[in-house]
Amino acid sequence: RGSCASDSSDSVISTGSETDSQVYKVVLLGEHGVGKSSLARVFGGLEDAGHDCDEAGNTYDRSIVVDEEEASILLYDIWEQDNSQWLKEQCMRMGDAYIIVYSVTDKSSFEKASELRIQLRRARQSENIPIILVGNKSDLVRSREVSVEEGSACAVVFDCKFIETSASLHHNVHALFEGIVRQIRLRKDSKEE
Ligand code: GDP
Ligand code: MG
Repeated sequence: RGSCASDSSDSVISTGSETDSQVYKVVLLGEHGVGKSSLARVFGGLEDAGHDCDEAGNTYDRSIVVDEEEASILLYDIWEQDNSQWLKEQCMRMGDAYIIVYSVTDKSSFEKASELRIQLRRARQSENIPIILVGNKSDLVRSREVSVEEGSACAVVFDCKFIETSASLHHNVHALFEGIVRQIRLRKDSKEE
């Protein structure tokens, strides 16, 4: 086509982005303090040795095997890196999938999660992007403000998956990332048909 006569370069162009790259960009969203960085560190395999490092932003690169197939995830914990509108818009555009986190001990973070879901839908209108709503800090039983039922009902309304996690206890963190990979694969398969 055009001035490009070679078959080989044609095929490089057509397959390059779809089949070759198995790297999924996953972006963490959610209010300050809900546990995004903690979840990211558990995912990245870094032991949280009791201290809270409060880096501005981080990216974690890790492969996991899901259903006997390897998947590479690039996890972006950059939502709070600065307060620029530009960064927020970048975040909304760049992800192959999103993890929207709230804390089960903080009702306002739950309400914020709904807002983020709406913003995401607006930014990516025609796309059916995988999203998982995450209620973190499930270990803090006595200060719970959002019930499991409220969380899962919200996920139904917003047409996304739902899971409760505890970054502190490492509970369900692996299941969360497996779920993300499965969802991305499902959407990809249905697109290719
Ligand atoms: P971020 O602002 O969303 O990145 O939240 P952080 O990961 O920095 O966590 C905020 C605070 O909540 C820190 O003091 C964490 O140790 C704490 N935290 C995070 N996840 C959990 C959890 O699952 N359980 C409990 N009890 N505390 C958590
Ligand atoms: Mg953080």
